[in-house]
Amino acid sequence: MNWDKETLKKWDKEYFWHPFTQMKVYAEEDNLIFERGEGVYLYDIDGNKYIDAISSLWCNVHGHNHPYLNNALVSQLCKVAHTTTLGSSNIPAILLTKKLVDITPPSLTKVFYSEDGAESVEIAIKLAYHYWKNKGKPRKKFVTLSEAYHGDTIGAVSVGGIETFHFTYKDLLFDVIRLPSPYLYCMENYGKLCDRGKEDLLSMLKEILEREEIVAVVLEAGIQAAAGMLPFPKGFLKGVRELTKKYDTLLIVDEVATGFGRTGTMFYCEQEDVSPDFMCLGKGITGGYLPLAATLTTDEIFEAFLGEFGEAKHFYHGHTYTGNNLACAVALANIELFEKEETLKKLKPKIEILSERLDEFFYVKYVGDVRQLGFMAGIELYKDKEKKEKFPYGWRVGFKVARKCWEKGVFLRPLGDVMVLMMPLVIEEEEINKVIDVLKESINEFEPQ
Ligand SMILES: *Cc1c(COP(=O)(O)O)cnc(C)c1O
Repeated sequence: MNWDKETLKKWDKEYFWHPFTQMKVYAEEDNLIFERGEGVYLYDIDGNKYIDAISSLWCNVHGHNHPYLNNALVSQLCKVAHTTTLGSSNIPAILLTKKLVDITPPSLTKVFYSEDGAESVEIAIKLAYHYWKNKGKPRKKFVTLSEAYHGDTIGAVSVGGIETFHFTYKDLLFDVIRLPSPYLYCMENYGKLCDRGKEDLLSMLKEILEREEIVAVVLEAGIQAAAGMLPFPKGFLKGVRELTKKYDTLLIVDEVATGFGRTGTMFYCEQEDVSPDFMCLGKGITGGYLPLAATLTTDEIFEAFLGEFGEAKHFYHGHTYTGNNLACAVALANIELFEKEETLKKLKPKIEILSERLDEFFYVKYVGDVRQLGFMAGIELYKDKEKKEKFPYGWRVGFKVARKCWEKGVFLRPLGDVMVLMMPLVIEEEEINKVIDVLKESINEFEPQ
């Protein structure tokens, strides 16, 4: 197909309906069309170079166009691109199951693949629900958190709690019990993340679990990322694990955003010594190369689905590309790179640099809150930072600041007025400093209407 830059820009606006994008506004603006990547850099069709400071939506780990990952992909490609895993198997998918079981908490011994984070949650929800049925003790309700984000399919939206994204569909969703968002609850009641806030939330959960039989508690690991980087009080996840054990309910931990090093450890669960009944993985699993997700679970769940064929106890769920050979091959190479390049060890000092430099934002105008967990950070802009008064939604303040960053060579995508930093784990100190400098400058230069 023949094209030049102008036709690309035209067709992009004419035919391409972009996700999470107001297309009327998109059509009026000049947008980025990327052509290639190298390490932490992306290049657009006009030849401009950007640091990918959001890891191409939180999934890139070792940089773009990495020779080791490319090589894994190409060598698998020369064998076969895809074979079905519905009742048959393939080499990279098998090797990856073993690897995933080895690196995740000890309770997790079974791997169910899918393609995107939302599906990995959808699968955990269905498995948990089905588990109780197979045990002859059906249950119906899930417990979730306000401000939760687990993806955009209907099941994942049902356990979500972000008003703007989710509540349009409320008549289509199943009923859940929602606890407050831990961060917002702590801030409102105590002005900071603290043990008292944590204890309050855990007693609310305890009350629910004493009152009702719950299918599962579903929550993100350590931080509600899509809600604008809202961390949990330390020990909250562990507390939830203890209660779900005590009251015989299941725990689904969504590590789609936090998994693969983002919080400083391979998985956040390690930091609180939590072994969940389900762990959902996506985003970083292929190092940002191909869509792949996984739902890990325990022997106990798995065994509830075993029976003679005629009993029809098995899990009737699968996607065409489940366990895709290419995606699994690159995922395996991604995990090998963590070991080979000591990615997590090298990340530690970078987390400290980020943390030190984030402190500078408290003195920047409009910055009302700065939040960090490991290598994930959110910087929230307010119209009035003292009173925590938000800018009107229609002003698109976060996006305007991000656009200024683009002009200065840093690619960002905010969450509302929260400027998100989710840099590839391999980024170097000098580049971290550039990202911070550019973001600070861009906020300083910003003039509200
Ligand atoms: C991004 C995300 C999802 C959804 O993943 P997709 O691949 O976009 O479907 C689910 N949970 C969390 C915590 C996420 O950050």
